[in-house]
Amino acid sequence: MTQDVDKLNRCIHMLVAANRILANEGVVDAYGHVSIRHPFEPNQYLISRSLSPELVTAEDIYAFHLDGSPVVANTPTPYLERFIHGSIYKKRPDIHAVVHSHADDVLPFTIAREPLRPVINTASDMGLEVPLWDIHDHFGDTNLLVTNPDQGDDLAQGLGDHKVILMRGHGFSAAGKNLVEVVKVAIYMPKNAKILMNALRLGPVKGLTPGEIEIRSKVDPKSPQMWRAWEFWCSKAGIAAGSKEDL
Ligand code: MN
Repeated sequence: MTQDVDKLNRCIHMLVAANRILANEGVVDAYGHVSIRHPFEPNQYLISRSLSPELVTAEDIYAFHLDGSPVVANTPTPYLERFIHGSIYKKRPDIHAVVHSHADDVLPFTIAREPLRPVINTASDMGLEVPLWDIHDHFGDTNLLVTNPDQGDDLAQGLGDHKVILMRGHGFSAAGKNLVEVVKVAIYMPKNAKILMNALRLGPVKGLTPGEIEIRSKVDPKSPQMWRAWEFWCSKAGIAAGSKEDL
C-alpha cells in the first residue's frame, strides 16, 4: 500500500513536469491542459484543478471519473473542458496521457482547407492524416468548448485510431501511450505546422511518405532517445525529470 502511494506520487510528479514543460515550450498558455490515466484505477484520470499549467504543483492534481465527475467531494473548480480527457480514455484503452492545446501555429489548419500533415521527421507521430473535428457539425452554435460528456464523446469518435485531432477555430487534442509520447507530439506538431506554413509560401511541399511514417512509428516511447528529450525539456523548464519507469 505504501508502495502504491509512492508510485502514485511519482506519477503525479511526472504529470506536474508535463504541465511545466508544455507551458515552457509555449504549447499551452493560460489555457490548455494535460492529464494521465490513473496508474491503479483505469477508469479514472488525473488532472490539475482549473489552473494555468505553468502554475501546477502536485497539490493541484485531482482524480476524475471518465464522465468528468470528481472522485472526491471537495474537489476545487475543475477545467471546463476536462470531458476531452475522460472521453478519450473511455474510447481508447491504449491511451494513458492526453494534451489539449490552443497553440497558435496549428490554428490556421483548423479553419483553412490546406490539410495539416507531417513534413519534418520529429513530427511523424502525428500520423499521415490528422482528422478535423468541427463542434458545429453535431452541436450547432456553441462557445466552441468541449463542456459535456456528449461533446467529449463526439470528439473521441472523431479521433478514432489517430493520435491527434484538430478542433475547428479552437486548437487540438493529442493522445499518447504515455506522457513523453503525447508531450512530444504536442511540442512538435505546432513546429511542423509553422514550418509547413512557411514552406507553402515557397510552392508545393513534399511531406513525409506513408513508409517513412511507418518506419518512424516503431520507436518505443520508453526508448533512450525519448528519455533524452524528456530530460532536456525538464531541464529547460526547471523541474526534476524523475524516473523513466514512472512515465
Ligand atoms: Mn480549449
